[in-house]
Amino acid sequence: MSRRPGKGSGFIDVARIEFIGGDGGDGCSSFRREKLVPRGGPDGGDGGRGGDVILRVNPHLGTLIDYKYRRVVRAGRGGHGQGKDRHGRAGKDVIVRVPPGTVVKDAASGEVLCDLAGEGEFVVASGGRGGRGNAAFATSVNRAPRRCEKGEPGERRQAELEMKLIADIGIVGKPNAGKSTLLRRLTRARPKVGRYPFTTLTPMLGVLYLGDDAVVLADIPGLIEGAHEGKGLGHEFLRHIERTRALLFLIDGTSASVGGDVDALGRELRLHNEVLGARPRIVAINKSDLLTEDEVDALRSQGYDILISALEGSGIKDLIRGLVRLLEDDEEEVDDGRGQKQ
Ligand code: GDP
Ligand code: MG
Repeated sequence: MSRRPGKGSGFIDVARIEFIGGDGGDGCSSFRREKLVPRGGPDGGDGGRGGDVILRVNPHLGTLIDYKYRRVVRAGRGGHGQGKDRHGRAGKDVIVRVPPGTVVKDAASGEVLCDLAGEGEFVVASGGRGGRGNAAFATSVNRAPRRCEKGEPGERRQAELEMKLIADIGIVGKPNAGKSTLLRRLTRARPKVGRYPFTTLTPMLGVLYLGDDAVVLADIPGLIEGAHEGKGLGHEFLRHIERTRALLFLIDGTSASVGGDVDALGRELRLHNEVLGARPRIVAINKSDLLTEDEVDALRSQGYDILISALEGSGIKDLIRGLVRLLEDDEEEVDDGRGQKQ
């Protein structure tokens, strides 16, 4: 199967699952037996229909990680029909919750079956019809049919769930770190720049053109400590972050503790979920124009090699080189992950 590595197919954002609808129950062949009636009519009931497997959008989900290790999802089978015109009960539907933006593809053909953008649901594998019991075949000509049907098997579908990413790189950092300013610097996006903690309420996207490549950057609302507990714009924020391939940690170089800020960001993401904690990332130190040479040297000796001024434009080339490397590494990682799985 051909697929562009990287873009839109980061390994945690794709899950391949076999969905199997429940088998329909068998119909029953049976004749009424009553004390005073020697031979009653046919009373074999129908089998119940098999359950459906239904994909349903849950707006609180941000990843497909729950399905990374699930290979098969099967709905319940229908009950068999019985004598005395008893129909089998319907098989249980199974609801599979998926994040908004999930695209469902047929794994073999690559055909898009459904695009679950906002709310909604999609029957990915229908249950089989229940078989008819012999009571259903009685006619004026044939009052005592023995015929009954087997239930139909449930539909089987090898599908691929893919979550659409909103951006290649998410810019994260404390409020006022300079995320909006940087997005303006790198792209033609025009986010509001201000001194308030939450100048950005929804992720602001911008496109950085690098030769033939277009890298989508997202300035994501300010992270504050406790975001994983839902403080501030926390959850909203983290959900957006989940839909990026890689992260740029933007740190205010004038902060009392640059290292502490980097750690706090990492911790916040890890607490939200492990995958996010392991997202490929680079760190850039901003506002270098406000730093003394000694401070710059000290940061470099601590291993921070991307120092920029989003406001004045210095260091931006280093940053772009770092971003390109970050995305290339991510693509390799995606390929490796696939290679091992096969
Ligand atoms: P955000 O909250 O992370 O989006 O931060 P903003 O981009 O809104 O910037 C917050 C404040 O920091 C604004 O007043 C910016 O002008 C200022 N700022 C951003 N980048 C720099 C920089 O490189 N140098 C200086 N001196 N100020 C900056
Ligand atoms: Mg901002």
